[in-house]
Amino acid sequence: MTRIIHIQADAPLKPAEGKPCNGCGVCCLVAPCPIGMLFSGKTRGVCSVLRWDAPQHRYVCGLLTEPESFVRPRWLAGAAARLARRMVAAGVGCDSDLALEDEAAAS
Ligand code: SF4
Ligand code: SF4
Repeated sequence: MTRIIHIQADAPLKPAEGKPCNGCGVCCLVAPCPIGMLFSGKTRGVCSVLRWDAPQHRYVCGLLTEPESFVRPRWLAGAAARLARRMVAAGVGCDSDLALEDEAAAS
């Protein structure tokens, strides 16, 4: 199935599956992960807690970087971030086998 996603021009290229995650954002732009579905209220499309970190030129998970912006009551933010870190397997290799085609370059 082909999907069109809009991605920051200076986002890093998606690495191969199993390589270290570089914050390319592709997986989270296509569909939220299970915990992202809870916060986004949908199963497809860009995750609502995905954030672009311009200084670092990479996407970040808002549940990990600014949980207090999304979690209520706020005192639950720390626990939610820890849960998110485990569920999204932060720090491990890329688990996405999505293949990209650059439409802008192709046209
Ligand atoms: S898991 Fe893979 S596709 Fe998702 S942001 Fe990391 S590198 Fe990109
Ligand atoms: S890792 Fe974070 S930003 Fe990405 S889909 Fe999951 S909750 Fe959303």
